[in-house]
Amino acid sequence: MCGIFGYIGSKKTAPSIVLGGLKSLEYRGYDSWGVASVVYDGNSKFQAPSTKQVPSVNMQNEMSDSGQAEMTSIVVKKRVGKIGSATVDDIPSSSLAIGHTRWATHGGVTEINSHPHMDCTGDIAIIHNGIVENYSELKETLKSQGHTFVSETDSEIIAHLIEQYAKTENFSDAFSHAFENLVGFNAVIAVYAKERMIMAVRNGSPLVLGFGDNEQFLASDASALLPYTREVYFLHDREIVKLNDSDIQMYDAKTKSSVALLPTHIEWSQASAEKNGFPTFMLKEINEQPDMIEGIIAADHDGHKKLASMIKEARGTYLVACGSAFYAATAGSYLFSKVAKRHINTAVGSEFSYDEDFVTDKSLIIALSQSGETMDTLEAIRTAKKHGAKTAAIVNAIGSSVEREVDFSLAIGAGPEKAVASTKAVTGKISHLLLLSHILADRYEEGIDVLKKTKQSIMSVLTPKIDTMINAVADTLVDQKHIYVIGRGLSYPAALETALKIKEISYIHAEGFAAGELKHGVIALIEPGTPCIA
Ligand code: GLU
Repeated sequence: MCGIFGYIGSKKTAPSIVLGGLKSLEYRGYDSWGVASVVYDGNSKFQAPSTKQVPSVNMQNEMSDSGQAEMTSIVVKKRVGKIGSATVDDIPSSSLAIGHTRWATHGGVTEINSHPHMDCTGDIAIIHNGIVENYSELKETLKSQGHTFVSETDSEIIAHLIEQYAKTENFSDAFSHAFENLVGFNAVIAVYAKERMIMAVRNGSPLVLGFGDNEQFLASDASALLPYTREVYFLHDREIVKLNDSDIQMYDAKTKSSVALLPTHIEWSQASAEKNGFPTFMLKEINEQPDMIEGIIAADHDGHKKLASMIKEARGTYLVACGSAFYAATAGSYLFSKVAKRHINTAVGSEFSYDEDFVTDKSLIIALSQSGETMDTLEAIRTAKKHGAKTAAIVNAIGSSVEREVDFSLAIGAGPEKAVASTKAVTGKISHLLLLSHILADRYEEGIDVLKKTKQSIMSVLTPKIDTMINAVADTLVDQKHIYVIGRGLSYPAALETALKIKEISYIHAEGFAAGELKHGVIALIEPGTPCIA
């Protein structure tokens, strides 16, 4: 998941604002980055650096009437690797800029392949998150129309496609037209130097618009907007936003009918999106679990009661999720079974379509998701709706696609989760499922008591003493090639989740098993010294 950040407004430091935005999106992972500054007459006292200083600067100087060099173009700086202590002081400052952190999918990790990408004229720059699945055919057509490509990416075709349509259409129509031609899940931001405009659209990849004072922002994650604004709008698929200095327009890409821009207020504090003294976001988020559970205990539980009654009324309920959320769903199915004596199905999002023949208008599908943007989970919700089923979600990101597309949703309330590997949101999902199962069994008070004890148990683990013990265990595991993790009952999904976390964070091969399964095959791989966590 790459990071996208855009700024247009009254401040003259747009490139640094954008770089700061990219830094706050670093947690999403990336291999290279780039910033484009849209520079105007008198906007900058910038002296063009030597090519050696800023190898990827792309600029056109024009002579003004007074004979002085004026910048009327888009200046791009791109680099491979982490932003680290890099600055954008070597490109001209301006009040309109976009930036991107790239996770290469098409074309190697090189400066040229990094975003922003430009059209042939240098007036259009784009940043792109996702994959343009039909890029090779589009590229062939564009080449035959005379366009010259400099990168190996799928993304660059977007700039040329807009350029092509802009030959006969105005820029905003050309932008929508180009988007209509893209196949795949994409988020795109484009700037047009000639008209000082930013346009953005998404299909499947997240994009958030932030409303400031005489300034507007675009980002792939609302947490990146917290230093500037809490008033945001989460773009829906196929909604196009057009920003210039005086106006914000939002409309549907196909019908062109305008969309009401009702802002969502984000409650998250800025501190919640910072490390707060912890060395990593993941440690910080692990340590936030007790407060999160306290929040769940203290919250109003009408939503849980409503969801419990939806489960009671349904003829067949599925918990649908991917990755860690699926393990939370598995834990949930055990809780529903043991506490509420109710059978609940589980399905991995990407496998749900194989169950769709059993989905009717009496079924209930409950999606679990941290980001609310997981495409396989969204597809499952859409499949369920096609069969007339009721849909619900337990989701962390307010305003996300999952939250918007279901009939009813419960907020996890974990606050921003910035670490790539989900931690507190998983505990949060299980906590909500635990409470739900107790409500279904008419044991609400007991459910609250279990949550209180859970909070205490977590606190008893998050101590310096246990930290030292965990570090000592980690030292014995760090050079291992394989680690096996086993558990029974509720510890079975915990074993699966533990193995997933080891893989994601340590890059060590780890597998989780129901303890009883270890003897059915896996044992062949176990030799003296193979670590097994129970
Ligand atoms: N597919 C594009 C590329 O490889 C965008 C990747 C991304 O989302 O960062 O450049």
